[in-house]
Amino acid sequence: MAFVEFDNVRKVYQSGEVKVEAVKGVNFIIKEGELVIIVGPSGAGKTTVLNMLGGMDSCTSGDIFLDGAKISKYNRNQLIKYRREEIGFVFQFYNLVQNLTTVENVELASQICKNPLDATQCLKDVGLGERLQNFPSQLSGGEQQRVAIARALAKNPKLMLCDEPTGALDYVTGKNILKLLQDTCRNNGKTVVIITHNSAFEALGDRIIRVSNGTVSEMQVNPDPMPAE
Ligand code: ADP
Ligand code: ADP
Repeated sequence: MAFVEFDNVRKVYQSGEVKVEAVKGVNFIIKEGELVIIVGPSGAGKTTVLNMLGGMDSCTSGDIFLDGAKISKYNRNQLIKYRREEIGFVFQFYNLVQNLTTVENVELASQICKNPLDATQCLKDVGLGERLQNFPSQLSGGEQQRVAIARALAKNPKLMLCDEPTGALDYVTGKNILKLLQDTCRNNGKTVVIITHNSAFEALGDRIIRVSNGTVSEMQVNPDPMPAE
C-alpha cells in the first residue's frame, strides 16, 4: 500500500513571460515507515517536490496523496491544518527561537497539535536529555539541528520532511544527523523524506529517488540500508 503517491505531478512557475517547468510529470510512491532519500543536482526540482508534498506549494497538474487523502485538492484552510498537524519540517537552517530554551522550543511547536509527543522525551530521543534548559546559542550546529528534529517529531506528524538537513554541517556531523533521523524515525514509526545533493548519504535510505531536470530518473528500493550506529 502506498502511503505517499505522486501521480503525474507537474509544476510550472511563471514569472511574467517566462515559464519554468520545475517538475515534469513525476510519479512515485512511498510506503509507510520508510526513510526516503531524494537525491539530485542543484536545480533538479527536489525542493519543489518536497514543498508540494508539504502543502507549501501547489502543483500545476496531477495529484498527490498522503495516507489516502488527496492533498493536492486541499483548500487554503485545509493546507494550514495539514502543515500544522500532519507534517514535521526540518530545514538546512534550524530556525530555533533564540530566547527560548531547548525544551521551550520543542513545546512551542507541539502545543498547536492534536496528539503531541512529550517534548522532554523527544529531546532525550535525539540525545539532548542533558540540554533541556540550554539556549540555542549555547549549542553546536549539530545540536541545534537535533533540537529541530525533536521539534518536528514532537508534533507526532504523519510525515517528516527534511530539506538539506545536513547543508550547514560538516560531513561527519551531517552523517550523524542522518543516522539520528533514521534511528529516531524508526523507533517512532515515522515515515521520513530527506533531500540531499550529497550522493554519499544515499546508502541510508530504504528508498532512493533520483531527480534530475524535473523528472525522476531512477527509483531504487534498498533492501539493506546502512544501519544507524
Ligand atoms: P532543487 O531543490 O533540486 O535544487 P528546485 O526545486 O529548488 O531544485 O528548483 C527547480 C527549478 O525550478 C529550478 O530551475 C529553479 O530555478 C526553479 N524554481 C524554483 N522555485 C521557483 C520559483 N518560486 N519561481 C520560479 N522558478 C523557480
Ligand atoms: P561543533 O564542533 O559541533 O561546532 P562546538 O565546538 O561549537 O561544537 O561546541 C562543542 C560543545 O560545547 C558542544 O557540546 C556545545 O553544546 C558546547 N558549547 C558551545 N558553545 C557553548 C556555550 N556558549 N555555552 C555552553 N556550551 C557551549
